[in-house]
Amino acid sequence: MEDTSLKEFLALVEVDDFDKRYSKDIGSGKYFGFPIEPVIQAEKRLREEKERAIAYFSMEYGLATSFYNTFQSQNPPRAENKTPRNTVFSNYRIADYFFDVQIDSLIDLPIYSGGLGVLAGDTVKTMADYKLPAVGIGILWHSGYFRQEFWFKYGQVPEKTHWDAYSYPGLIPLKNTVTIRLKNEEIRLKLWKYYVYSYKRDYALPLILLDAEIPENREDIKTLTEQLYRSDNSWIKLMQRVVLGFGGVNAISALGYPVKIFHLNEGHAVFAFVEKARGYTDQQVEELRKQFCYTCHTPVQAGHDRFSQDDLQGVLQEEDFRLIQRFGTEDSGLINLTLLSMNVASSINAVSKRHQEVMQLQFPSYKERIKYVTNGVHPYTWISGDYLKLFKNFSPPIGDVESDPMSLVQAMSLKENSDFRKQIWLAHGANKERLCSLLEKWKLKEDVFTVCWARRIAAYKRPSLILQDIDRLIEIAQKTGPLQIILAGKAHPNDNLGFTFINEMLDKVDKLADKDYDILKIVILENYDIYLGKLLTSGVDLWLNNPYPPFEASGTSGMKAILNGVVQMTTSDGWVVEAEDKGIGRVFGYRYAGGKIGSEFDRSIKADAQELYETLEELSAVYYSTFKDKLNLSSRWIDMMINCVATGAHFNTYRMLNEYKSLIWDPCLKEEGALRV
Ligand SMILES: *Cc1c(COP(=O)(O)O)cnc(C)c1O
Repeated sequence: MEDTSLKEFLALVEVDDFDKRYSKDIGSGKYFGFPIEPVIQAEKRLREEKERAIAYFSMEYGLATSFYNTFQSQNPPRAENKTPRNTVFSNYRIADYFFDVQIDSLIDLPIYSGGLGVLAGDTVKTMADYKLPAVGIGILWHSGYFRQEFWFKYGQVPEKTHWDAYSYPGLIPLKNTVTIRLKNEEIRLKLWKYYVYSYKRDYALPLILLDAEIPENREDIKTLTEQLYRSDNSWIKLMQRVVLGFGGVNAISALGYPVKIFHLNEGHAVFAFVEKARGYTDQQVEELRKQFCYTCHTPVQAGHDRFSQDDLQGVLQEEDFRLIQRFGTEDSGLINLTLLSMNVASSINAVSKRHQEVMQLQFPSYKERIKYVTNGVHPYTWISGDYLKLFKNFSPPIGDVESDPMSLVQAMSLKENSDFRKQIWLAHGANKERLCSLLEKWKLKEDVFTVCWARRIAAYKRPSLILQDIDRLIEIAQKTGPLQIILAGKAHPNDNLGFTFINEMLDKVDKLADKDYDILKIVILENYDIYLGKLLTSGVDLWLNNPYPPFEASGTSGMKAILNGVVQMTTSDGWVVEAEDKGIGRVFGYRYAGGKIGSEFDRSIKADAQELYETLEELSAVYYSTFKDKLNLSSRWIDMMINCVATGAHFNTYRMLNEYKSLIWDPCLKEEGALRV
């Protein structure tokens, strides 16, 4: 029995160098410590025509492999696959000088940059939980995105991420290679697989990763799969997209998966259509469109990829170029991948209701076709262990959260239950303690009101809004109680404006060094990543989200926070617009009136900072009223925490995938009937 499962696996999956590298971890029913049967099942199923499989294409995947479904290996992890130390920049400078943050774990599979990747990871994990016949397509980034290092107070220095794919648990190279045909050359790509197991480990979704770093390729071709979102020139940018689209489609054929639906997560993957359409008549191209779905995540103009016609013509075969020119040329004459995606896909969706409005303004002639499916987060990745335990202890009335996260809505019926009110507060305390112990040397205190802003550094997200008036922060702390602020985020290495925000933040904290840290402690963490994201979204009291409306397509970190009872202080944008009446915290700041998008550079900093401080002061008072003399179980803070959890019933990937199925995929398959689940 045991030997047959290995034989079956090896017949389905041609692992490169199996005997030497992987035979210890794969075999006798086991796949890196997980059962191997689900892999065999999925591989067989994906090859069946009647399954009508979905291929999900994304430039990046944030899978949280360091803490979710972590594979085991008989070989101890190599040093480069462990998380490096992070420095901290704070106004408690003495600790910064002497200590770093040490996380003793496997590095997260470094093939993501931020929110888009985390969404893709959460999506494929949920597809596996739903046992959908699906395959993920991505790229194996040999130096990840980048590692952020602070150069004392002088800003961010991007460093390469060093890691070793061959010894990363669960990641396997295949013998299969594929060829991409261009105008003057061919490129070969190596394929890898990473199985994304379901939460219950009874299903596995293959994620195929494309890799150009093989000896047959020229040096400049090898570098294409080195660094995610490298954009030093338009050739690299273009070729990374060509690798994903062309390579992905060829990989699907090479592995024998009869895919019916091609889902493009962002326009990065749109060349998949071009690869499929080669040699087709106009009629066939039109038919092919029915199989393509496109999800747009970009509300800002700069986010849409554009290339000159020359750039494309220089690289692609004439027929490919003509097709792209036909479907992707905007008024300026440039090729716009968003436009191309909208024209080749039969289904277009935005990622929140507000984002749909914005997209419809940006692309009026597509108005009728632009739908929306609001993003979500994968509950079992983001709910902390203590909160999951809490939910189990109160089932009923909360149903079986581990099978159905939508049952969290029942938390509302526990509003008057004083035991639940106490336990939710205590579970939060346990999460907060975990965060405080990581930052032990900075003496973060569990009974101090803690606020966090952590996300990608981009102008419209207004990273330094809370630091506009430090004196006002001190005043709030004096009036209502001490305050701890944690900040973190990376700016894209070519984003010069982004750098200035990091500099501003470091500079402001530097001026405060060794002053007032008893009542106001500000801590800036280096190298914000998924691991820190989990600790922060579950461990702070208040999650600050202050994008300048309407430029946040959705945002997801707040969704992670509400699943852990973390209260929101946010502007009205992205997903928040759909949750404003849920009592999950306070909404403040500039409100988008609709009709006109405005400029992402206005930003309303002064007025919004002022409102931020007023709101913060009120919330701090409510927070401290919760445990003034003794635990005050009737505190409004606990009401908000419960509202948060109940609202998490909606903003998760289970609800999101139900909507993708009914609004996007099933209509796509309408001639053949609904997707089999
Ligand atoms: C969730 C997450 C994001 C996305 O956060 P937003 O609120 O959408 O800005 C970015 N980076 C990491 C590491 C995350 O975990």
